[in-house]
Amino acid sequence: MNGYTMVVLVKQVPDTQNITGEAMKEDGTVNRGALPAIFNPEDLNALETALQVKEKHGGTVTVITMGPPAAVGVLKEALYRGADSVFLLSDRRFAGSDTLATSFALKQAIITKVPDFDIVFCGRQAIDGDTAQVGPQTAEKLGIAQITYVEEIRSLEKGSIKVRKLIDDGSEIVEAPLPVLLTVTDTANEPRPFMAKRLLKYRKAATVLGLEPLLDRYPQFNEKNQLEEYLRGRGLLIDVWSADDVKAAPENVGFAGSPTMVKKIESISLTGKGFKEIEPTDAGIRHFVAELIEDHTL
Ligand SMILES: Cc1cc2nc3c(=O)[nH]c(=O)nc-3n(C[C@H](O)[C@H](O)[C@H](O)COP(=O)(O)OP(=O)(O)OC[C@H]3O[C@@H](n4cnc5c(N)ncnc54)[C@H](O)[C@@H]3O)c2cc1C
Repeated sequence: MNGYTMVVLVKQVPDTQNITGEAMKEDGTVNRGALPAIFNPEDLNALETALQVKEKHGGTVTVITMGPPAAVGVLKEALYRGADSVFLLSDRRFAGSDTLATSFALKQAIITKVPDFDIVFCGRQAIDGDTAQVGPQTAEKLGIAQITYVEEIRSLEKGSIKVRKLIDDGSEIVEAPLPVLLTVTDTANEPRPFMAKRLLKYRKAATVLGLEPLLDRYPQFNEKNQLEEYLRGRGLLIDVWSADDVKAAPENVGFAGSPTMVKKIESISLTGKGFKEIEPTDAGIRHFVAELIEDHTL
């Protein structure tokens, strides 16, 4: 066997860990324009796990993201870190997808484009939607085993995988047959940085959806299709898959395929009530701990 065929599902998310005053709109929804877009943190751990499997056992790492044209940013970062191939799943018909429709589209992409996969890696959770549903729902739709909260791959042989996964009060060793879907936690590893050689090679990579603004940088080309051919010839054109390309029926994606209804969005402001200010001194902390022991919190 020539190693493992691996797929990593990654998401571009607004950086909700660095919230500024403008991060929320008046209606309580996220102001995506005001927050920098980043690689979902645990998806970096998923990618790192896949790259380590490739280094140890051989194989290929394919990265897929579903998102708007700007999501090409995370795909380029995946190339800088060592992914073999990357794909953008993007179509207006995907807009409004909830987790059910998202996992349907991702499942279609996997079975139509990488049908011989052995392992699908996901992050445990995305920092914007925060549901942790897409991984398990994708496994369910693929009809394969899933192991969530993976921290370490213990062994990989004879069509089976053994991993250590996090549980509430420790960890558990779990074995599953391949193909399998794993969701990976941020405690699994330290994601590798960009590799300088790959950064130089792929920094000009683009999709057909992002060529227009690049034309200024290539005065030798007047037309988008000339630039497209130029990038393709150098292995720098990232393929975009539409709903038709992955055979995703319109009734299963976007608003049509999303049974989730957002009933109400509320902005919750924490008030000072119920808070207690502690003096930042040893005596202040001692006093506070004594109070917590007294009321049985500790
Ligand atoms: C009614 C409704 C409408 C929505 N409309 C939109 C919309 O128009 N545009 C929009 O961007 N979002 C929309 N969303 C949000 C969207 O459903 C979720 O962001 C998406 O399904 C992922 O869920 P999550 O963020 O909870 O990811 P989680 O389930 O927490 O993610 C777990 C893991 O799944 C993988 N994953 C998740 N999402 C993707 C992805 N897109 N591509 C590849 N891998 C992925 C990653 O590995 C990630 O770490 C909508 C949600 C609802 C409820």
